[in-house]
Amino acid sequence: MSLITPLRKEIMQDIKQELEQSGAAVTEIRDKQGRILFNNRIPRTRYFTPDGREEFKIPQHRERRDGVVYDIFIAQGYTLTPPTNLKPYCPSCDMWHDTQEEVDACVEKKSKFMASMNRKASRELLKERKEKDTQITNLEAKVDKLTKLLEAKLGEKI
Ligand SMILES: [Zn+2]
Repeated sequence: MSLITPLRKEIMQDIKQELEQSGAAVTEIRDKQGRILFNNRIPRTRYFTPDGREEFKIPQHRERRDGVVYDIFIAQGYTLTPPTNLKPYCPSCDMWHDTQEEVDACVEKKSKFMASMNRKASRELLKERKEKDTQITNLEAKVDKLTKLLEAKLGEKI
């Protein structure tokens, strides 16, 4: 989940409320490209995030291999009643952990991982650059050799 999505939802909710207060029956809001930003026709269920925020979502169900149908959001930790035992949200994995220490550890683990990925990427970039440099040096040597051969054949400098 990006940061933009919840903010956009909040703005849409505000626009919808304002329109409804002025007497309009809002069923959907579209942007200039015609994409639906807000759709009021599909019934939404009120869920609570493990950190206690209220979110209205279109319920999504999935079937397990053994035939049990489950609610995806409930499986992710959302509840239908306000949670009594609040769990901190983790920006690193976009989920919730039991304790703030676990969140901190998750954030640190990700930043370490990202740092090692960056190091690896710059190492590879450096290697590529060196290979290119070698190729260019070899090509220059070849051109030099060919030029000399040509000059010897023509008997003049080119
Ligand atoms: Zn996490």
